[in-house]
Amino acid sequence: MLKIFNSLSKNVEEIVPIHKGEIGMYACGPTVYGYTHIGHGRKYVTDDILRRTLEIIEELKVKHVQNVTDVGHLTSDADSGEDKMEKGAVAAGKTVWEVAKEYTDYFNNVMKELNILPPTIVCKATDHIADQIALIEKIIANDYGYDTPEAVYFDVTKFADYGKMFNQTIEEKSVASREGVEVGEFKKHPADFVLWFKRVGKYKDHVMHWESPWGDGFPGWHIECSAMSMKYLGEQFDIHTGGEDHLSIHHPNEIAQSEAGTGKKPFVKYWIHTTFLMVDGKKMSKSLGNLYKLTDLAEKGFSPLSLRYYFLTTHYHKQMNFTWEGLAGAQKSLLKLNKMVVDLSDVPVTAEGWSGEGVEYFQKFVAAMEDDLNTALALSIVWEMMKSNISDEAKKNLIVVMDSVLGLNLGTEPEKNMGIPEEIKELLTQREEARKTKNWAESDAIRAEIADKGYRVEDYPDGVKVEKI
Ligand code: AMP
Ligand code: ZN
Repeated sequence: MLKIFNSLSKNVEEIVPIHKGEIGMYACGPTVYGYTHIGHGRKYVTDDILRRTLEIIEELKVKHVQNVTDVGHLTSDADSGEDKMEKGAVAAGKTVWEVAKEYTDYFNNVMKELNILPPTIVCKATDHIADQIALIEKIIANDYGYDTPEAVYFDVTKFADYGKMFNQTIEEKSVASREGVEVGEFKKHPADFVLWFKRVGKYKDHVMHWESPWGDGFPGWHIECSAMSMKYLGEQFDIHTGGEDHLSIHHPNEIAQSEAGTGKKPFVKYWIHTTFLMVDGKKMSKSLGNLYKLTDLAEKGFSPLSLRYYFLTTHYHKQMNFTWEGLAGAQKSLLKLNKMVVDLSDVPVTAEGWSGEGVEYFQKFVAAMEDDLNTALALSIVWEMMKSNISDEAKKNLIVVMDSVLGLNLGTEPEKNMGIPEEIKELLTQREEARKTKNWAESDAIRAEIADKGYRVEDYPDGVKVEKI
């Protein structure tokens, strides 16, 4: 059975489903106010690998629910600051609804390119306002929430376990909530957090707003995940995922809200967090100019599946440092592996699982995946198997099932958008330079030259996409 690091217990634990044969899994989804970057990609590839392992290796039925945070929310994880979505909308001269739709589509496209299976249920926060209001009402009825002229707050002092989650104390949280953000005037305790914002004071012009028992306003950020996860998965469920940034505020708050509302513990059995993707040793951010998207990778001739392969070479729980050399190495390995599988194109798949020749490779592969999703080890076993002298039939049967877990689409699209030749990469760089200096004639000429050599270049607002024609 799969063993995985549970952030709540800080132990590697065996996953035992609450309901036999089934897993309820909730993944914190994207905030749709900006382009999806490769750091997001790492988190959703982890979720995808987890889901495929549960489904294919453990043969469990996974109900995978993922939200879309489309309510404009506030810049920091705490409750103050500017509304990110509104800021983005104003900058682009669009409505917040249009911005949310565009970035949601963009996110979905990135997920598809990374070969991430779509969730069973995708739920938008703005479609579930009534569920969020109903949960806040329960929290207040159970005496964990209080109404003030500026907002409805969660009272952390009433929730005995609040500081204990993920080893934090309320004192630490108070400091965190004071750093860089102002404490609400009506908060009883500095660590109390907002369940419902009222459209008053600095929020009086907030674009997205709804009627509620506490007046016109909009939900706090954390409540949507509690309300929607419990709506689709029940008041207690198996797995909850997120990036490591959710460990300190979002997830403790989700636990507090959910358990305060239902009176049931634990809200979730296993909490799984992906450690952040860094770039050249630094946190990825717009201001450092190191925030990369798939289109930035395409400009340099790297495919989304090479990025996926690259992610799999590092354990999801270790910090990963993205470098161009690292990605180039991953792409080289993927192309080589892909070629080996393409060479088996004429070999038929004769079994669904595989228990014949070379089964020891499959057993080692399963053991690696079951050991806290050790994808790096699993990949090395794939290589060992492909280089071994077992029969082609055995290789084909084994690689098909292994790839269904790793999701590298091996052997299916050997050329398309993979391994752009050096010569084309060089032309892409020249074209990028031409575009930077607004030399459109030259940029078009280079595009035509690239087309003559068999590659299509498509321009997007945030970069280009290159494909073999
Ligand atoms: P956001 O759209 O910022 O809410 O992020 C969506 C998900 O991606 C969250 O679970 C984040 O924790 C995760 N995430 C954001 N940045 C990174 C990163 N650099 N590396 C890994 N995961 C990230
Ligand atoms: Zn969430």
